Amino acid sequence: MNGATTSGELRAHNRARLLRAVHECGATRTRSQLTRDLDLARGTASVLVAGLVADELLHEEPAREHGRGRPTQVPGPHPRGPVALAADVREDAWELAACELGGRVTVLAVRPHDGTPEDALGTLGEALGAELERFGHRVAGVGVALAGPVRHGGLVDIAHLSWHAVDVPHLLTHPPTPKAPLPLAGRGVPLFVGNDTAFAALAEARRGRLRGVRVGLHLHVDFDLGGVLVVDGRPLGGAAGSGAEFGHMPLTGGERLCACGALGCWSTEVGANALLRHAGLAHGGGRGREQAERVLATSREAVAANARALGRGIAALVNAHDPEAVTLSGHGAELYERAGETLRAAAEPYLMAIRREVPPRVEGSALGWRGALLGAMESVFDAFLTPEGLGGWRGNHPDQGRDTPDRQNVMNSTS
Ligand SMILES: [Zn+2]
Repeated sequence: MNGATTSGELRAHNRARLLRAVHECGATRTRSQLTRDLDLARGTASVLVAGLVADELLHEEPAREHGRGRPTQVPGPHPRGPVALAADVREDAWELAACELGGRVTVLAVRPHDGTPEDALGTLGEALGAELERFGHRVAGVGVALAGPVRHGGLVDIAHLSWHAVDVPHLLTHPPTPKAPLPLAGRGVPLFVGNDTAFAALAEARRGRLRGVRVGLHLHVDFDLGGVLVVDGRPLGGAAGSGAEFGHMPLTGGERLCACGALGCWSTEVGANALLRHAGLAHGGGRGREQAERVLATSREAVAANARALGRGIAALVNAHDPEAVTLSGHGAELYERAGETLRAAAEPYLMAIRREVPPRVEGSALGWRGALLGAMESVFDAFLTPEGLGGWRGNHPDQGRDTPDRQNVMNSTS
């Protein structure tokens, strides 16, 4: 029983299990289905749910369709319940959202930035500060996705924006020109900083097409390409957390110098920068998103070149890792939609014969461009939906909990 020995520990363990089950099913399963899923006694489940409702962690609604007898209840997020603040910081803009238990996302703000760490993270820090003020004790944590390798829980490098070891937690809590007091600092709110591809892969494993897949490969394409192996539902993070970098392997035989410092990286051949280059347009520095989207929609030649490079690299990774499925998010999904046949034809000659017999399925993400944001949310709920995380929830007793000394991972925690 996971080390839960006393009745109090058992109750805390079951509260976390039940909330996690509600979260993972997207608040769609009825109380009796959850009771069966979790192998709980009916009376135990009733007491647990009643306690979680009283603590403003859950709220029950009657199921929309039910047979005769008493209407079945569906546990879901409480209107004053916990929220995860999740941000996706791309090379040219960031998006900030509030996410409820069950995964419903409300976008709070989208803001372009000038590509500097100060503008991108300073303005996001101010927005987070304002939302923390507004949501108060309801904020279970903050998750931030970034378009570069993230080391040691918060140092990010985005080579083509000239970001080197940028301290994300520091900039989020100490913007260079604060316009408002910064409630983000010293609030006791856990912060999870991670790579966008790793977060997109995590979301795909929880809510997308890698759900239930034991070994999967996820590729996220924006200005360039990131990729990571997903094993038993978790992206392989690497020793310091910066593992989602299949884009920086020389998989296509190219000789182009990559902004990362290496020669012939796969990501110089796939993504918005590569599309712009094919069309003879200016590229780099996180600029040109709209032009790249136009190239994607109109230039068959540029799309085919990207799809061929994508296919050839996928073949190399399939040879190495034998994944059951390959999923593509960001521009990757659209490349696959427009030129899936070209991609498959380009991959085939590079596959080992034994892989060619039963190639893995390749699919666009079920989550569109939302993967990185949803993965940032999942990182918050992963920590919150545990006996320790829930121990800090003060619900309708706002003068209790939180700010206890055991919540150490405040604003510099790992993803
Ligand atoms: Zn590179």
